[in-house]
Amino acid sequence: MISQKSMAAAALLRNYTTTGRIVAGVRTSPGLSAHHSSINFLTANRARRYLCRASATHDEEAAAKAAAINADNGAPTIFDKIISKEIPSAIVYEDDKVLAFKDINPVAPVHVLVIPKFRDGLTQLGKAEQRHGEILGQLLYAARIVAEKEGILEGFRVVINNGPSACQSVYHLHLHVLGGRQMHWPPG
Ligand code: AMP
Repeated sequence: MISQKSMAAAALLRNYTTTGRIVAGVRTSPGLSAHHSSINFLTANRARRYLCRASATHDEEAAAKAAAINADNGAPTIFDKIISKEIPSAIVYEDDKVLAFKDINPVAPVHVLVIPKFRDGLTQLGKAEQRHGEILGQLLYAARIVAEKEGILEGFRVVINNGPSACQSVYHLHLHVLGGRQMHWPPG
């Protein structure tokens, strides 16, 4: 038989999970304190997760700002080493102009980066000039090939982060091809 205590605890928990808050004064008996502490523990855990996420976002933003400082100094990026095969990558598609490889830190079941093999000043999309029209088209078409190869042609997202406020961290133009899960809008 379900006791009054456990019903009250369930109500508290229900309130917590739907609103993220514990409503004060719902306690119906002194015996509920144990439930309260476990719920408080859940709340503390949730707060820790938020703090963690906030600090990850902060780190990402700081890294993006730092990366932007050297964006246009012409120095090779990590992607140049991937193109030259100096460092390994999981290649999904390659032709003479374009390379597509799996992101080392995926944010979706499918997360592939599509890059031009020759950077030609395209550290970021914001640097594009008319002469880049052909390679920009090739990159987009390669994104479609990647989506087909990865089995996500029916639903996928292509993202280009441009500059520090978009958290760009590598200054060699790249398209993120994302899919394999439900995407949400607006993006963060
Ligand atoms: P962005 O933040 O838009 O500049 O994206 C850069 C992406 O490059 C990030 O998603 C990283 O996870 C990814 N990345 C960095 N180093 C590597 C690597 N060695 N292999 C694959 N992906 C990488």
